[in-house]
Amino acid sequence: MSLRTGTAHKVVARNPIVEMDGDEMTRVIWAMVKQQLIEPFVELKLEPYDLFLPNRDRTDDAVTLQAAEAIKRHGVGVKCATITPDANRVKEYDLKKAWPSPNGTIRAILDGTVFRKPIIVRNVPPMVRSWQKPIVIGRHAYGDVYRDVEMKIPGPGRVEMTYTPAAGGTPQTVVVHDFKGPGVVKGEHNTEKSIRSFARACIRYALGEKLDLWFAAKDTISKTYHAAFKEIFREEVDTRRADFEKAGLTYQYLLIDDAVARVMRHPGGFLWACRNYDGDIFSDMLASGFGSLGLMTSVLVSPDGHFEYEAAHGTVQRHYYQHQKGEPTSTNSTATIFAWTGALAKRGELDDTPELVAFARALEESVIETIESGIVTKDLAAIAQPPIAKHVSTEGFINAIGERLTHKVGAGLALL
Ligand code: NAP
Ligand code: MG
Repeated sequence: MSLRTGTAHKVVARNPIVEMDGDEMTRVIWAMVKQQLIEPFVELKLEPYDLFLPNRDRTDDAVTLQAAEAIKRHGVGVKCATITPDANRVKEYDLKKAWPSPNGTIRAILDGTVFRKPIIVRNVPPMVRSWQKPIVIGRHAYGDVYRDVEMKIPGPGRVEMTYTPAAGGTPQTVVVHDFKGPGVVKGEHNTEKSIRSFARACIRYALGEKLDLWFAAKDTISKTYHAAFKEIFREEVDTRRADFEKAGLTYQYLLIDDAVARVMRHPGGFLWACRNYDGDIFSDMLASGFGSLGLMTSVLVSPDGHFEYEAAHGTVQRHYYQHQKGEPTSTNSTATIFAWTGALAKRGELDDTPELVAFARALEESVIETIESGIVTKDLAAIAQPPIAKHVSTEGFINAIGERLTHKVGAGLALL
């Protein structure tokens, strides 16, 4: 394959993108995508942070914090999947300790909301017949059952919940339950600040991507807790009401069970803002309903307008072990490529560089056209319609995209 590095005019990115390399099979893919699909066409200003597990260990995880701070400075980052070490990984990589999830660390520093969006290709139809356009999930990533306290109740007795004002004053107490026998109890919380910034991130994303916005909870039952979410969301939408109207977009609040029923017969093309637990559950439902993890992208949007793009899947460990043994692999690089195109397009948009946005779209089209022409990795070959008997290798897929992209850029179709 020959990429016309010398002849094609390179698009220049004006400002830096924070690049976070990662682990295992996605690290292998990362290098190929960068070398073959990005660098021959774009003059990048990358600020690299290597989140490769041994490097996180060597720097006592300082590199992850530095990467997050860099995203705050430059506004746009692109991240490769990384290992979140458990006991096995501590042994495998001889680590000082089981470092925390880089995604968790970065999310805590940027205070962001994660949006997951499926990539739709014609020959991989969603399992749900009505879905024609992506359904994007925005998941609130703080509190509720993920930060609860729980207690086993051994026998009869009263459980109460008390608020003691820090500023002094009379404490408030409610009775949770008068137990007549053994049982269980839990206390959940959330903060107005976190709910508000979640609502703002969803509104920003919906307006940016031109999507209608849904938010759902169960305020008919949870008249204070869920009602607070509904109320705060409504207040935040009200401050942007004019922008919604100008863009011809709508916001609607639904009861969560009604939302679920409607999602199953909706053509898609909207953002579904989910409370933490709902987002956990429904993002997995949508990922499997839309096809393959290799087609699911993810972006962290902070309330201050910082963006971090990545694939929703992990490091594809099983494929990496095959790769290490010298066996052929067929790993889908689509979501990783779309992480790059997301970051490039956002950089172009923020810097007012339409050529960069056009290049990102040309690369996305090249990927989609490659898949729709029947050149696919193993995960898609199995679920494509009509079925595809022969899949290509990890390298073969990227090469095919590269050829298509070179042709597109060479012909000046997208960039002029
Ligand atoms: P995974 O890497 O998402 O892979 C799970 C399985 O899904 C794979 O074995 C493969 O199935 C399929 N798959 C995922 N991505 C694919 C792709 N691009 N192309 C083809 N098939 C794909 O999850 P995991 O194996 O549970 O986790 C591995 C490591 O990733 C863990 O150390 C975890 O900590 C980390 N992780 C990181 C992130 C992140 O950085 N955002 C997210 C999740 C997990 P088959 O084996 O059947 O082919
Ligand atoms: Mg889940």
